[in-house]
Amino acid sequence: MSEVLLTTTVGSFGKPDYLQKARNQLARGRIGPGELRELERKATAEWIRIQEEVGLDILVDGEMYRGDMVAFFAERLDGFRIGGLVRSYGNRYYHKPIIAGKVRRPKPLTVEWFEYAQSLTQRPVKGMLTGPYTMLDWSFNEAYPTRRDAALALAEVVRQEAEDLERAGARYIQIDEPAIHARPEEIDIAIEAMRVVTQNLRARTISHICYGDFAAIYPKVLELPVDQLDLAMANYEYRWLGLFDQHPFTKELAIGIVDVHRHALESVDEAAEGIHKGLRYVGAERLYPHPDCGLKTRTVEETIAKCRVVVEAARKVRAELAAKVPA
Ligand SMILES: [Zn+2]
Repeated sequence: MSEVLLTTTVGSFGKPDYLQKARNQLARGRIGPGELRELERKATAEWIRIQEEVGLDILVDGEMYRGDMVAFFAERLDGFRIGGLVRSYGNRYYHKPIIAGKVRRPKPLTVEWFEYAQSLTQRPVKGMLTGPYTMLDWSFNEAYPTRRDAALALAEVVRQEAEDLERAGARYIQIDEPAIHARPEEIDIAIEAMRVVTQNLRARTISHICYGDFAAIYPKVLELPVDQLDLAMANYEYRWLGLFDQHPFTKELAIGIVDVHRHALESVDEAAEGIHKGLRYVGAERLYPHPDCGLKTRTVEETIAKCRVVVEAARKVRAELAAKVPA
């Protein structure tokens, strides 16, 4: 594994056609959950092989078994009910979960997927969880007296899952908080809840934060108790880096260098330029190039092409850095 500018991805990849088809067939009762699961395992294995072939350093399982990042957990935790359809962004609708009782984790939720994916490769695979604040913000709370109480209850189940992932061998555990800037006045709740999750972990911890007003939570977000912040940058023309001039960035940075909402493919030079922008603020051993966000809305082919640009850009910049080091 290269030692600097380790490349990775945010977590989700496009689902192959046979898996999309199987998910629809399950919804209509044409196949059973066992058959779907076999195809999810097949797709996971394909994505591990593709990531190795593309040359990524830190892998993900691709989330073939997930629909939505909150619903997946809500459907498997005690205390949640699945509510009616609400509109999220654009024309996307989803069933917003309802916290209707005391939240409990009846059994591990993602550990088997982590173990399976990690068994297929020598490279590290990240454990992938949704953070307690985002689970709260994307659900209705009908059970706990305050949002803080609900966030702390969710933090407890996320902590259990994170500690199980670590016991299963995860060296990197990512706890995503894309909703953290939804209500900047509540950021202390997100920080307190994350502390519950990460306080006993020795694994490297990461939190992905994407679309929204990052300036509204900076520099306060540096108090989020994780080792690495994983940020969309390409889509914002790297404007968030300007914030680091006023207040130094103190964590490792996973920097988004390709825009996942554009079909058009960035050039390697363009993506490499993004890495150079990040290097003005964060050393190469603490900078992790990757796509801005999850790739589940892209096709399999687009996902692979975007990842290839990330890997080639990192190689280019590594070579440039090596050439600069005096012999
Ligand atoms: Zn994202």
